[in-house]
Amino acid sequence: MPGVATPESLRTLPTDEIRQLLWRLSDRYAHQLLIQSARAVARGPVARLVAAGQRHSHDWTPEKAALLQEFDAAGLTSVYLDPEHGGFIDGPKNLALALVAFELAWVDAGAATCSLAGHLALAPIHERGTPEQRAFYLSRTLPAQPGEDRQTWRGAFCLTEPIPYVGVETGLLNGKLRVDSWDGAEPMLRVEKRGRFITNMGFATFVTAAVDSDDERIKGSCMVVLEETDPGVFDRGTPTRKLVHQLSSTNDPIFSLTVPASRIVGGYTVENGVIVPRFSHGEVIEAVFRRTRVTVGLMTAAKLLSAVEPVLRYQRTRFRGGESIAPGSPRYELGLQQREDAIHRLVDIWAAGEASASIGFATARLFDELDPIERRKQEIFAERGIAGARAQMRAMAKISDEAVAHLRDPQAKPADELVNYALLDSVANVLCPAVKLWNTGQGATMMREAVSLMGGYGITEDCPGFLGYKWMDSQLEATYEGPEAVQRRQLSITMTNDVFLAQFHFWTREMRAIAARRPGTGACTIASAMQLWSWTLAHLQRTADANGAKLYQGNRQGVTFPLADALCWLLAARCQILDVLELEARAAERPDLADVSAGYVAFLSDLCHVQAARAAGEAGRICTELVYGYRRHPSWDDACAAGCCQSEAADALEGLIPGFGASAVTYMDVIEADGAHPDKAGPCVRFPALQTFQRLRAKLDGCLTGARLAKDRAADALTKVMIPEAPDYPA
Ligand SMILES: Cc1cc2nc3c(=O)[nH]c(=O)nc-3n(C[C@H](O)[C@H](O)[C@H](O)COP(=O)(O)OP(=O)(O)OC[C@H]3O[C@@H](n4cnc5c(N)ncnc54)[C@H](O)[C@@H]3O)c2cc1C
Repeated sequence: MPGVATPESLRTLPTDEIRQLLWRLSDRYAHQLLIQSARAVARGPVARLVAAGQRHSHDWTPEKAALLQEFDAAGLTSVYLDPEHGGFIDGPKNLALALVAFELAWVDAGAATCSLAGHLALAPIHERGTPEQRAFYLSRTLPAQPGEDRQTWRGAFCLTEPIPYVGVETGLLNGKLRVDSWDGAEPMLRVEKRGRFITNMGFATFVTAAVDSDDERIKGSCMVVLEETDPGVFDRGTPTRKLVHQLSSTNDPIFSLTVPASRIVGGYTVENGVIVPRFSHGEVIEAVFRRTRVTVGLMTAAKLLSAVEPVLRYQRTRFRGGESIAPGSPRYELGLQQREDAIHRLVDIWAAGEASASIGFATARLFDELDPIERRKQEIFAERGIAGARAQMRAMAKISDEAVAHLRDPQAKPADELVNYALLDSVANVLCPAVKLWNTGQGATMMREAVSLMGGYGITEDCPGFLGYKWMDSQLEATYEGPEAVQRRQLSITMTNDVFLAQFHFWTREMRAIAARRPGTGACTIASAMQLWSWTLAHLQRTADANGAKLYQGNRQGVTFPLADALCWLLAARCQILDVLELEARAAERPDLADVSAGYVAFLSDLCHVQAARAAGEAGRICTELVYGYRRHPSWDDACAAGCCQSEAADALEGLIPGFGASAVTYMDVIEADGAHPDKAGPCVRFPALQTFQRLRAKLDGCLTGARLAKDRAADALTKVMIPEAPDYPA
């Protein structure tokens, strides 16, 4: 590309070593081994199934079922288990599960879901189960070891019910729980539940199901564990005729079973003859989804990054084989990469993939950090006798004030465990829905771009990299575990938390400081956009619309949802920048990477800059629309017109200021004596109260300086980067 300087750039696609530094995996050997095991399954048996057309059937075929043994043999089934139950990873498993999902979804997200749905079924038991429930179910899902003669249990998670009842909104439940008999110490319960879209249902041995009390002797809702051998009906239902994720099993089951009360997840007490479950179904689900949604977001990130190599190969080889196109000619060597649009669009896909992987892995790591602290918080509350959701909320409100105060010196590690919890929890509460919402929603849009870059090939079954399938699959990732609206609604609450906002302000300053050291990353752009977002949120929280109705409020989704979207763009871009800085710092300690790391850092910094510009643009557009869009536009016949310049006045001023009459027409809204006025909707609006916003917006636009040069450099690098001769999996 003429005039583009590329002092250091990319030689090959990022290697595992570079990824490990970027995503902070380099000192986690168990995770690295897991990546290799999951990758071998993905690019071997999974890819072969897809290439052989197994996605064309909705049924759970013997070929698909064979994947379960592959997962078992590779250790993927036991990732979720603690060592005491036969697992091999001690401590939190969020990052480990995220890596498995990422590797499998690199090839096929249905296979990833099939692997993870079993963990989703176990999650209620793992997070909120009694010690006995944990020991019983977790150990049974461990694959039978050599010499052991036992069945490996597999689970399904059943919340969603047939329309018109619940999706993932959890407010309503039609599944019912009654006391069947209560003769001895242990009550027997009758469970009636119909599920819709339940993954793993074709083969599950047990199901964790959400139900509501239909009996005055049971309080509220809960989750119960159902087993296939329980007395009654355990009807798996017919397979769902879905367009996507066909390597997983999805059915609409019907359950009518009798189970002992000990199956209530987390246990229960009996108070005045009433069974009181320790946890409502909502409490269990909240604990589960706030972790597993991150994994789903990473599935879509894997798709975007997996698209880069096939698109590069397609672009370069597009014209090879033509009689008139000689090897060595630009057309032969570069193919479609001679065209700026093709490589610019690939840069956009790659940049979005990096941002989504960065925010996804950052959030998975955050949950690994948070998990033990959250357990410790429960212990502290128990020690202090703080029981019940409301009492805990009150206690946390006091701690939140301390957490905000602590942020005056944010580098210092908080001395108080609960303050530390408040800080991490407030961020996790935002990042989890942000990853799910942005990675999957924006990811689906970007996957369309990837498919389009393959031309007609993109929509064929034999498109390299299965990109067409991945495009469709991403829509399911945006749907399950709560569609976009559910994530936006959650964000609209969590993103206004004082502790989160205090940290967000700190991050804004941090981005500015980074920009001073590393101007080419787009950090300054993100800082300006963060400032604009903060100003807009505060403005909307205290402002009413033209009709006097409050703007930032729960049922005003037209206000809260776009603002949540804007935040997601910024959070993802921030994480991407932080990852590249981490790579730069850690690679500097690695002599073996000395001759390549600068190229990776330069290229990935350019991708950051490209993404920062896009993110800032989106945030700026959204904020501007919200700030101006709820003001009534003045019209020529209302009071606003009184503020316009009347032509007689302009004429009179002409005598005092020669030329005033002519320039007034150009620069002001002038109303003639007969009422005639310029040909537009109304007098131009004036914004005396919005000067700060206008200043911030203008600053933000200026911050885009250099972003397109970064895009040119990144695009140029794409024309030179080496890729393998052939893909490493059949596609
Ligand atoms: C293949 C597949 C596998 C699945 N696996 C499981 C499983 O294993 N277990 C399980 O329990 N469920 C499962 N599900 C169900 C899945 O979680 C739900 O389909 C999903 O959460 C969406 O709910 P819904 O279909 O009821 O959509 P709806 O809630 O009807 O949503 C429809 C539209 O309305 C919008 N909307 C919804 N609520 C609001 C609101 N409050 N405000 C504004 N807009 C709103 C949504 O964003 C969406 O655009 C699966 C689904 C599929 C397709």
